[in-house]
Amino acid sequence: MRYISTRGQAPVLPFAEAMLTGLARDGGLYVPETVPQLTAEEIATLEGLSYEEAAFRIVQPFVAESFSETELREAIRRAYQGFGHAARAPLVQLSPGHHLLELFHGPTLAFKDFAMQLIGQLFQIALAREGRRITIVGATSGDTGSAAIEAFRGLPNVDVFILYPHGRVSEVQRRQMTTPDDANVHALAIAGTFDDAQARLKDLFNDHDFRDGVGLAGVNSINWARVLAQVVYYFTSAVSLGAPHRRVSFTVPTGNFGDIYAGSVARAMGLPIDRLVVATNQNDILDRALKTGDYRVGRVEPSMSPSMDIQVSSNFERALFSAYDGDGAAVAQLMDELKSGGFTISQGAREHLAGIFDSGRVSEPETLATIARVRAETGEIVCPHTAVGIKVADEHRQAGTPMITLATAHPAKFPDAVEQAVGLRPPLPPHMARLFDLPERVTRVENDNAALKSLILERRTA
Ligand SMILES: *Cc1c(COP(=O)(O)O)cnc(C)c1O
Repeated sequence: MRYISTRGQAPVLPFAEAMLTGLARDGGLYVPETVPQLTAEEIATLEGLSYEEAAFRIVQPFVAESFSETELREAIRRAYQGFGHAARAPLVQLSPGHHLLELFHGPTLAFKDFAMQLIGQLFQIALAREGRRITIVGATSGDTGSAAIEAFRGLPNVDVFILYPHGRVSEVQRRQMTTPDDANVHALAIAGTFDDAQARLKDLFNDHDFRDGVGLAGVNSINWARVLAQVVYYFTSAVSLGAPHRRVSFTVPTGNFGDIYAGSVARAMGLPIDRLVVATNQNDILDRALKTGDYRVGRVEPSMSPSMDIQVSSNFERALFSAYDGDGAAVAQLMDELKSGGFTISQGAREHLAGIFDSGRVSEPETLATIARVRAETGEIVCPHTAVGIKVADEHRQAGTPMITLATAHPAKFPDAVEQAVGLRPPLPPHMARLFDLPERVTRVENDNAALKSLILERRTA
């Protein structure tokens, strides 16, 4: 399996290289040249397997040239052993035909752990094999950063720098990033928004001297390996509700489009997914783009679901690449237009997207009302991101097709919003009880490329 760039101008790479690199050298994102297919029989045999065994069968065809079966099995085993639930991604029924896929039982209580824990293991194997050192730089709206730090802290051949928007993440999210005391962990609070952090990250990747000099690696959801790891729970949850004999739909609280894009990969592999529904908060560029065909960048409005407070949605480029039938030049052209504010999706590409995705947008008052309603109707307490998903899912449910809404974070990560909605603060699980007692380590940095580069050069441990 070879990996190509969505902009068509970067070297074609095997899986391990695409993973260690992150962003392609032409500014595009890596995607597999072809998508492996699972037959209905192969999908049916996933029923009743452990999460780990299902993950092995789904991931293996994508990585076979880079990792042996033994290496992959061991990486998967280690990745999920620290999860607080034996099913890893359990399904909970909310109402007849509506199910919640709980993706928050990993070490940092958000779905990001599913991918980050696995790529932490795969990076380690690949780096040890090649005697290489790398510098990971990540931009985060909150949950990616802590998941990356948890996955890479203390590793001998890696530094991990995480850029988060100063003052725009929850206190639990911030403390998860600033309290690990490993020398290779560097939390950086940037003066700006998540989009600023992501733009600085892209600048670093596009500076080829710097990139090669420090062995820059990206673990944002632009990294194909992250998307791949997330494909697994679409299969396990759909199969437990009757796939491949029954179609299911998913609603996904969406920011950078990584999680829901993984759903479209599962669909392309043969999983009978009816609709993939994008749920956004008031930062609704994706909802607008899917409804009108106009992808136009607005201003980021901070919300109570901060992990979705973004305007430029990186992985949407991958969906565009499919919608434009693999035409890298067309995608490069759109991304060029984006620099001056936005672009219009062609009629053909819009129809392609409309064949897969629906979308909806949820306001702040509706988010609070949904947390309260779900509590009253089911006793479940959900995080604000998940509430955005549930509200949009309820608007898109169709009789006879089960709807699975992804519960992307644990409510205890967002206690202020939950308290506002239902009057109580959900407790952190026991393994995180000390979070508020530990000292914090963080460096403030300007929204400036040169300042960021010199900070990274100065702080690297090797
Ligand atoms: C990252 C995140 C999202 C958005 O996921 P994308 O892959 O960026 O679309 C939604 N909810 C939570 C809790 C997250 O951490």
